[in-house]
Amino acid sequence: MKKIRVLNQISQKGLALLDEQSYRLTEQTEEAEAILVRSADMHALDMGSHLQAVARAGVGVNNIPVSRLSEAGVAVFNAPGANANAVKELVIAAMLMAARNLYTAADYAKNLDPAAGDLAAQVESGKKRFSGFELAGRKLGVIGLGAIGVKVANAAIGMGMEVYGYDPVISVHHAWHLNSAVHQCERLESLLQACDVVTIHVPLLDSTRGMLNASRLALLTKGAILLNFSRGEIVDEQALKTHLNNHYLHAYVSDFPNAELLSLPNVLSFPHLGASTLEAEELSAIQVIRNLKSYLEQ
Ligand code: NAD
Repeated sequence: MKKIRVLNQISQKGLALLDEQSYRLTEQTEEAEAILVRSADMHALDMGSHLQAVARAGVGVNNIPVSRLSEAGVAVFNAPGANANAVKELVIAAMLMAARNLYTAADYAKNLDPAAGDLAAQVESGKKRFSGFELAGRKLGVIGLGAIGVKVANAAIGMGMEVYGYDPVISVHHAWHLNSAVHQCERLESLLQACDVVTIHVPLLDSTRGMLNASRLALLTKGAILLNFSRGEIVDEQALKTHLNNHYLHAYVSDFPNAELLSLPNVLSFPHLGASTLEAEELSAIQVIRNLKSYLEQ
């Protein structure tokens, strides 16, 4: 009987794969042979001597001390690609929200006051402020052409955008799925200078932390939209603050709220919602628990 510690809420469809004859859920980390996690930060967690595997029902593993676990012979699993469609749909929604000023416009409409006068006149006077731009014909830059980046790039081609990609280590699998209309840039700088909308889809690694630094951010075009559904730390958000404060950028949309940027009018943040769909939660849990079981049962 293997003991599994579940640190976050994991889809029941996934947990149902852990049959009661072979697995028991435990609250005691020290006695666990495997840990199932979503977003809990495991860096400070004391893990017991029985631990054989850590399984993340998601993609990014920066909440897991991978090197420390590997040195101790503990296997680490994630669920590659399982939430790519969920993130892609949110990125497309965010792009549209920013281009059409939907978040401020919806807020305006919500606060209309029929008691204060003619509603139609209030609508007319407000709408001028929220006029936006169309995405068809605009240039989109996708940084990182993995499971999510490829889906975003292909969807944007379908919307009539001209798409540029940057990924010096794109895999054969992802290159195969990438729409051939996507222009691949050899230099990140060329992509940043060319595009109206830029979206980041690289993992958080030592080599990508602060990748969008002050000098690269300075290459973005005036009125550009920058989307970060990857990890907050990939952008130097202090340096970005200057561009946002002087309204050089149209919007920064991030799935990782930053205390100093939150209140700026051209910043739109979500509470890490990228993978929060029923489908992605189920698929991630099922995929990672299947892999965990084959490892524990081999
Ligand atoms: P993936 O591993 O399939 O793709 C990552 C791509 O980035 C790879 O093709 C890789 O070659 C490329 N890359 C690595 N270093 C690069 C660099 N320096 N420059 C350019 N490209 C580089 O991962 P994915 O499933 O597409 O997810 C990407 C990231 O998105 C995850 O690591 C995670 O941090 C984030 N994510 C966020 C959410 C969310 O809820 N917001 C959900 C899922 C994933």
